[in-house]
Amino acid sequence: MRLFDSHCHISDGRYADRIEELAEEIRAAGVERLVDIGTDLESSESCVRMAKRFDFCYAAVGFFPSETTGLTEEDLERLRQLSREPRVVAIGEIGLDYHYDDTDKPSQQHWFRRQIELAIEEDKTIIVHSRDADDDTLRILRESGAFSKERTGRFPPKPDGRPDARVLLHCYSGSAELARTYEKLGASISLAGPVTFKNARRSVEVARTADIRDLLVETDAPYLTPVPFRGQLNKPPYVRYTAEKIAEIRGNSLEYIAEQTYLNACRVFGLEPDGKTAPGGAQEGSASCASGAPELGSPITDER
Ligand SMILES: [Zn+2]
Repeated sequence: MRLFDSHCHISDGRYADRIEELAEEIRAAGVERLVDIGTDLESSESCVRMAKRFDFCYAAVGFFPSETTGLTEEDLERLRQLSREPRVVAIGEIGLDYHYDDTDKPSQQHWFRRQIELAIEEDKTIIVHSRDADDDTLRILRESGAFSKERTGRFPPKPDGRPDARVLLHCYSGSAELARTYEKLGASISLAGPVTFKNARRSVEVARTADIRDLLVETDAPYLTPVPFRGQLNKPPYVRYTAEKIAEIRGNSLEYIAEQTYLNACRVFGLEPDGKTAPGGAQEGSASCASGAPELGSPITDER
C-alpha cells in the first residue's frame, strides 16, 4: 500500500531537529510521496530545498493569505523564479482566509489573483486555502481563469474524460454541494484530519458523495492531527487515518482509497504514478498520467 500526503509542512521548525528520523517514519509508513507547502518566500525556499533533499518530497511555493500584506511585484517575481526550480509542482498555499477580524481583504484578494495568474502562466497546479470565504474564493478562481478551457486544455483530462483544471481545494471544509460545483469545474478536493473528528458532518458528507477520482488526502502537518492522535504533533504518516476514515465512510478498503488517492494526487500534480526521479532531478512529464488510474469500482492490484 502506498500513500500520497498532498499537503504538509515538513519544513516547519517543529521538525527541524529530527528531520532524518521523520523521513524514516515517512518511508516506513508507506507515504511514498508528499508535497511540502510554502506560506511565504522563506518557507517556500525551505520547501524547494527539502524537495531536493528527500526523494519522497515535492514542493509548493506561495504566499498564504495572511502573508500578503505589503507584498510587491518583485516578491511575486521571486516566487516565479522559485516555481521554476526542480520538483516544484504547485503554487500554494494561496487563497483567502477571513477567519480573523483584522483580515486585510483587499490585499488577500489582489495577491490571490496575481498568484493564480502566475500559476496559469507557469502551468502549475493551484493549491487553494479557503476559510470562511467560500463565495469570494470561487468567484476569484473563476474570474482569474483557473477553470478556463485554455487552462484545462493544457492538461490531460481526468480518467473518465472530464477536464482537469489542476486546482486543489486543500483541507476542504465547504458543503457537499459546493464540492460538486468545484468538481464540475475540474477541481479536486483534498480532505484532512477533521474528517476523523467526532463533530465532522460536512466533510463526512463530502467524503461520501464526491467522485472518487476527485479525492485526495493530506495531513496539513504539523496542524490538524487526526483521531486517534489529537493533541499530539501531526506528521505525514498519520495521513493513513484520514484515508482509513474515508474508506469506512464509503465502504471501501483502505488499500483501495490509498491507491486511488495516490493516483489522483499524481494526476493533479502532473507526476508519473510509478516514475522514479532522483532528488533534484528533472521535472516529470504529465503525458501518461491520465492512463494510470483504474476504472471506478474496479479492484486495484498493487504491482509493487
Ligand atoms: Zn497548510
